[in-house]
Amino acid sequence: MRIVDIREITVPISRYADSGIRSGNLTTSIVAIVTDAVRDGSPLVGFGFASFGRFAQGGLLRDRFIPRLLDARPGDLASDAGDVDPFRAWDCMMQDEKPGGHGERCVAVGTLDMALWDLASKAAEKPLFRFLGHLVSGEDPRGEAAAYASGGYYFPSNDLTELADETRRVLDQGYTHLKIKIGGRPLSEDIERIEAVLNLLPGGKHLAVDAMNRYTPDLATEAAAVLAAYDLRWFEDACDPLDYVGQAELARLYAPPLAAGEALFSQVDARNLIRFGGLRSDRDILMFDPVHAYGLPEYLRILDMLDHSGWPRSACQPHGGHLFCLHIVATLGLGGCESNAHNFQPFGGFSDQSVVRDGAVRLPDAPGIGFETRGALWALFESLVN
Ligand code: MG
Repeated sequence: MRIVDIREITVPISRYADSGIRSGNLTTSIVAIVTDAVRDGSPLVGFGFASFGRFAQGGLLRDRFIPRLLDARPGDLASDAGDVDPFRAWDCMMQDEKPGGHGERCVAVGTLDMALWDLASKAAEKPLFRFLGHLVSGEDPRGEAAAYASGGYYFPSNDLTELADETRRVLDQGYTHLKIKIGGRPLSEDIERIEAVLNLLPGGKHLAVDAMNRYTPDLATEAAAVLAAYDLRWFEDACDPLDYVGQAELARLYAPPLAAGEALFSQVDARNLIRFGGLRSDRDILMFDPVHAYGLPEYLRILDMLDHSGWPRSACQPHGGHLFCLHIVATLGLGGCESNAHNFQPFGGFSDQSVVRDGAVRLPDAPGIGFETRGALWALFESLVN
């Protein structure tokens, strides 16, 4: 099998189910890796996208990472079966890159990496979770994972009413645990949001809050003192992602679970958080995003580092909220999966037909990541190759 073409475009996405609501001109990249292999009369193609929240990576993709894959000799990328090996392709993409200075090149690499895994598992005619399960442990995973509904962004008007409506919608869908945003408005207004959602939930342990790294150290301390009374599932992204001292101070003051790591994009950054961030392996949550952080090969290195640091796999709840992460969570025995069930469409959430039962979701049995099971996303991907 040879890669014969790689296509990419930038597409707009919205944080809201109603994509007409302004959302900071957010974009993501989508890619298609086209091969000379043929399945059912059509070229075998792997698809991927750049997860959410970090904008599209077209320049880096076009200038460095796509040309390296296209210029590789076929033998350089080949698996034992003669297909494209995602690990060898990762080494090829990273040739001549220096250590450090991760910037957002890690997002560009992660975007292509997602498509490489889609391609490799399609070539093996297996869903990614089975393909990956055999690769990393020789076992067949259950194909199901716990998932929580993520969202709760600030609505430009009628915020509390809209937030309550969104909460009812995801509870009706079968989700049992939610996450909402805080940190963008005065603390008193955020407390109103938290209480509006808690009114619809059995208790604080069903709700996580995400401050989107907006707090100064002083504001984080102030918020922590107030939030501690709500017995929340976790308090996420309180301060700047690289402020390990601030994170450690917060962990000293705030006994309930904290979550961090979403905006750390390499194994070395993740290791620094574990070494210096004061996080507690018996309760805290790690959010490293497998797509933003150089893709699955680097995420496996992060998990290896965590294993050696005494952290349980159950502490990992990767940022993302899409099908690729659901495969990873189910296969690698992680604690749970974010689900952007209504936002970041058509990428967020899982298969169109997937049923959420008591907060758990089954993976599609389609070969690859299963993007074909999402009608609107599949139409977008097909527009890239037709
Ligand atoms: Mg977050």
